[in-house]
Amino acid sequence: MSANAPITQDVMTIPRKLPEGKINLVGLTRDQLRETLIEHGTPEKQAKMRTGQIWQWIYQWGVRDFADMTNLAKAYRAQLAEHFVIEIPEVVTRQVSEDGTRKYLCRIAGGHEVEVVYIPEEDRGTLCISSQVGCTLTCSFCHTGTQKLVRNLTAAEIVGQVMMARDDLEEWPTPGAPKDETRLLSNIVLMGMGEPLYNFDNVRDAMKIAMDPEGISLSRRRITLSTSGVVPEIARTAEEIGCLLAISFHATTDETRDVLVPINKRWNIEELLAALSSYPNASNSERITFEYVMLDGVNDSDEDAHRLIDHIKRHNIPAKINLIPFNEWPGAPYKRSSNNRIRAFANIIYQAGYASPIRKTRGEDIMAACGQLKSATERARKSRKQIEAEAGLNS
Ligand code: SAH
Ligand code: SF4
Repeated sequence: MSANAPITQDVMTIPRKLPEGKINLVGLTRDQLRETLIEHGTPEKQAKMRTGQIWQWIYQWGVRDFADMTNLAKAYRAQLAEHFVIEIPEVVTRQVSEDGTRKYLCRIAGGHEVEVVYIPEEDRGTLCISSQVGCTLTCSFCHTGTQKLVRNLTAAEIVGQVMMARDDLEEWPTPGAPKDETRLLSNIVLMGMGEPLYNFDNVRDAMKIAMDPEGISLSRRRITLSTSGVVPEIARTAEEIGCLLAISFHATTDETRDVLVPINKRWNIEELLAALSSYPNASNSERITFEYVMLDGVNDSDEDAHRLIDHIKRHNIPAKINLIPFNEWPGAPYKRSSNNRIRAFANIIYQAGYASPIRKTRGEDIMAACGQLKSATERARKSRKQIEAEAGLNS
């Protein structure tokens, strides 16, 4: 075992198959849930009340078995169980880092896998969730971007990641117990695998469920959506989800950003900044986070720092700048900037009057850090290919 090996790695192998023909109630909006109940025999007159009751059982108490929904008549519970299931992604592996960061590999329908990371901090606990399997975009510094397999996650699979983590953290309250205000899982960031704005409707529905006061009830201010810059969807994020926004900015000239974040060729820096300057929710208390990955000799010069400030000032964007030390992955074409360089860059930003926290790298020993997420099966497949290539088996 190397010094960096994870402390524990539990493997859960019991598959939880979705019984054929049954409908999963997880991920349905309240309206969809109501309609679904009516379609399967709930009298219309009762539907609103039943929706509220079932909603609370699923999202407030974390109940997965209709038999446990004790305020519903026994016959009705049996009727529900005949048609429906309450299903969330299945945990395949769970790793715990030396620093307490937890990384889960979850299996979803079709045998795909997504990664979810839980990062405990003193005053909060953040769950980093995925919105797609892989990513259609190909940012050159991002490990997820090298994964070929892509599919959008359903709303059930997105909010299911939050429910899965609450299971693991044992954070579902018990009926009658006083409400615990100090939550282990207090924040969500959409910074896992995938581009959330290319899966807008499912991300929106899932986050609406996570925010619903009669369920998981996370404040919209505790949810941050990170996008590489899908300009036409940015305004909708404020209007339809209402969460905080983070932008994978990463470069200060179009020439460099075209390479690092290729979506820049579609919507360039000026178009992106214009969309941000009119972001409906942006204010001093709800600033937009500019994520900036520090790549040695690529985007980390003093000139870059000054240009970054100039962009933000010119467009008058309430902003904070989050400097991310590059997390290297096997075969990555970049190196992390030195600590001195990162500090010098941060200082220029700070002198200009902006917050410039340097993101702590967490969970590095279990490859749980930002941008390193990539499913294990994909990794295994790749490395087999590499091995074959090296052995000359492909020729
Ligand atoms: N697709 C979205 C959200 C997922 S990526 C987006 O790009 O914003 C979450 C964050 O991790 C982004 O800011 C991304 O640029 C950053 N990231 C990706 N690879 C990284 C790496 N190897 N090291 C550090 N940050 C990385
Ligand atoms: Fe996709 Fe975001 Fe990675 Fe770019 S940085 S490839 S948008 S996940």
